[in-house]
Amino acid sequence: MSSARKPLIPALILAGLAPVAACAQDRQPTIPPPSIVEYRPRSTLVVPEHEVPRARFPVVDLHGHPGNLTSAGTIERVVAAMDELNVQVMVQAMPSSGERLRRQIAAVREAGYEDRFVFFADLNLRNVGPGSGQRIAAQLEEDVRAGAVGIGEIQKGFGLTTRKADGTRLQLDDPELDVVWETAGRLGIPVFIHTGDPAEFFEPLDFENERWLEMALFPNRQFNDRSRFPTFDDLMAERDRLIAKHPDVTWVLAHMGWHTQDLGRLGEIFDRHPNVHAEVGAILYDLGRQPRFARAFFERYSDRILFGKDSFRPEEYPYYWRVFETADEYFDYYRDYHAFWKLYGMDLPDDVLRALYYGNALRIIPNMPTEGFPDRGAS
Ligand SMILES: [Zn+2]
Repeated sequence: MSSARKPLIPALILAGLAPVAACAQDRQPTIPPPSIVEYRPRSTLVVPEHEVPRARFPVVDLHGHPGNLTSAGTIERVVAAMDELNVQVMVQAMPSSGERLRRQIAAVREAGYEDRFVFFADLNLRNVGPGSGQRIAAQLEEDVRAGAVGIGEIQKGFGLTTRKADGTRLQLDDPELDVVWETAGRLGIPVFIHTGDPAEFFEPLDFENERWLEMALFPNRQFNDRSRFPTFDDLMAERDRLIAKHPDVTWVLAHMGWHTQDLGRLGEIFDRHPNVHAEVGAILYDLGRQPRFARAFFERYSDRILFGKDSFRPEEYPYYWRVFETADEYFDYYRDYHAFWKLYGMDLPDDVLRALYYGNALRIIPNMPTEGFPDRGAS
């Protein structure tokens, strides 16, 4: 931390990284300014606050990463947290296949919680070459027979780092995989896919980058090396071609397709493809800084957006409930490196909340448990 105590701005100007007029009215601080890590202004704003420890309606968490659900202890611990939060069903989206899938399904059944978890299947996308598509599709059929009700979460490596057998990057719309998506369409199971990461991760790491801190903290989130990674737009175009090629598949874009900084772009995808849905995990910082536009978007596309949390930290779910359910203003977000701004509540109407929390999930995922939902899933 010692370097953070030195005056930064003159050095940065010398390095050409900061604009010369870095401060208001061309003034420079007369004392050394704090670093981005040090500066933690305490809000003096006093406004009504409504904590929401428990969701207003029962929730399906489409993006569950609760760890491997094979021990009774883990299952009990996860269910206890779900009960507190009003999460009725969790999708195990840490995908598994074959024996690992069957063991988890059996353990949950044995623990008496088969109405609280459903399982999505994994696709082995490593070293794809001629014949891989048929092999992956056959494994998928077997996993669905074993009880899987979806595919995913397909990890972001697909499109970014996953290589084919010939060493080239496996493109999202590689024709070898067509048979896999056709199989998913025929089986009527959703495909939950994470493509890319926030657009800023693909941009130069300069002092105008909104995600500077996160990219500096996690160098493996920098995808701005053009010799190694496609651009954000090229990657999304690849994904959009995949979607267009398979209109019979129910696609669910994890993290709202990383289009939350430009919801209109996601709206265009929704308008063009009635089979596309989106999930809200880990992008709350973007919804919470545009509560009015985001609310209008959620109202317009209420049949397309599903709740999902991603990392399983029970104490973080209430931030989602608060943004979705209240009109609170200027409150803290749980992860400072995602966003240096505060959140505002979207104050969603009950019918939109129901669709987001469970209605859409019960509609697009086959064989969902309906026990515990107020209208047993009719939406
Ligand atoms: Zn995930």
